Amino acid sequence: MIENYVAYLKYLQERLDRFFASQKEYIACKKGCAKCCKNAQFPYSLIEFKYLLQGFLTLDKETQDKVEANISKIYQDKKLFKGEKFLYDCPFLIDEACCVYDYRGIVCRSFGLITAARENKNAKIPFCAFIGLNYSNVLDDEKKKLSGEKVEKLGLKEEPLGFNIGYDFLTNKDFERGFNFSFGDKKALIDWFDKDLTQQN
Ligand code: SF4
Ligand code: SF4
Repeated sequence: MIENYVAYLKYLQERLDRFFASQKEYIACKKGCAKCCKNAQFPYSLIEFKYLLQGFLTLDKETQDKVEANISKIYQDKKLFKGEKFLYDCPFLIDEACCVYDYRGIVCRSFGLITAARENKNAKIPFCAFIGLNYSNVLDDEKKKLSGEKVEKLGLKEEPLGFNIGYDFLTNKDFERGFNFSFGDKKALIDWFDKDLTQQN
């Protein structure tokens, strides 16, 4: 079944690559920028998590040890956390780079674009627009909204677009049926590590 998930990932990645290319005037993503790998929850379904673990098994021992140490630290921090929403840096972020890049999950691939408004959800600009990264060249800093005026001033033909890239949409049943696999349960990445990483299957 994981092969069918990988086929879906290939299909998704091709689409995302096209989306990112269409927005290139607004995109600041580059190697070494890892702000979206920090201070978040990282939703992962079971199949995404299993594939991520396949990536973990390809790592050298030293990197595996670093990841395991990160997980252990985050897991302990989470146990002591008393607030509502526990945020953490992804344990697979090693030296400011993803050590399982080819195996990363869906939210890791889609983050950085504007999520289009859908049903009762408003369009969502990625947080990094507000710290000088994606879309910040067309952001109205006061109104915290995109500025048509700035788009015009920059002489860009197309205004930024929003895409159907919400996590719920990208992990919906139509994709499960179309590619013949199941996402399984979904939870924050750290919550999958309720036992030793080497014991996972
Ligand atoms: S989405 Fe934003 S934070 Fe993430 S790599 Fe791109 S520019 Fe950096
Ligand atoms: S799996 Fe990789 S891309 Fe995804 S949040 Fe972690 S470090 Fe970033």
